[in-house]
Amino acid sequence: MKASLIVHGGAWDIPPDLIEAHKSACQAALLEGWEILSSECHALEAVEAAIRVMEDDPALNAGTGSVLNAEGQIELDAGIMEGGGLEAGAVAAVQNIRNPISLARKVLESEYVFIVGEDAVLFAGTAGMERCSREELVVEKELRLWRAQRGAAASRSQEGHGPTGGDTVGAVAIDHRGDIAVGNSTGGRPLKHPGRVGDSPLVGCGLYADNTLGGAACTGQGEAIIRVVLAKTAVDLLKRGRPVREAATLAVQLLRKKVNGRGGLIMVDRNGNVGYSFNTPAMAYAYMSEDQDEAVIGV
Ligand code: ASP
Repeated sequence: MKASLIVHGGAWDIPPDLIEAHKSACQAALLEGWEILSSECHALEAVEAAIRVMEDDPALNAGTGSVLNAEGQIELDAGIMEGGGLEAGAVAAVQNIRNPISLARKVLESEYVFIVGEDAVLFAGTAGMERCSREELVVEKELRLWRAQRGAAASRSQEGHGPTGGDTVGAVAIDHRGDIAVGNSTGGRPLKHPGRVGDSPLVGCGLYADNTLGGAACTGQGEAIIRVVLAKTAVDLLKRGRPVREAATLAVQLLRKKVNGRGGLIMVDRNGNVGYSFNTPAMAYAYMSEDQDEAVIGV
């Protein structure tokens, strides 16, 4: 089976001065995940590792460097799923966790699928994960933008994407055994209402994996993506052997047509082919397959 990995750093209007940072974050995540995938590990390991790299990169809206909510707090959402037994784990509205994707993975390994808020942080403690402080996650750039946006953001936040925000991260992998895994991690929308949760951690909406078809991870306007159950819709489009690139394009077209939504997604099919599509001005991505000589990195 051909192993493949694709990652993204969010679909939105990436300002020109941030493009390089987004590309290099995706490249670093791809390299980390690819090394793991190449050493015969399960696709879940590669997805978790790739996303941790992007969570730790302050340029992206996940983990360290996430956008702030209306109260100036960082509340994080993450989800991870595997396509063999359809096992999934997710957390939402968690504070003080450096790598929410790893917490989502702990949930996947538990008897639960979804744990939210302070109770997810307590669960992290019982699973041996440390808390971090708010200050460790907040970066100066986001704090400045939060202050600037607070007064005048009402109309822009309706659109779902401010000048930062949108650079959610995601990864989809297939390993040599044909096991598919998908993960997402995000700080969500800038200035969001406390407790607001987007598509990113929601199975079927922000992510879906089924070894018999493929996997998809979405980014963009969560309120729109949820309403068209975008990830599952995209994976279902792979039925009857439809090419993965076509499925990605059709899913993003449907997002626009049905709910006037903006966003993008990355996919792999059960044969290790990768696809992606977006209807935002940009989406940072990187992918590698065993039949490629070198990684593709783009915006
Ligand atoms: N989909 C994420 C959310 O709505 C944000 C993004 O991907 O840009 O929380």
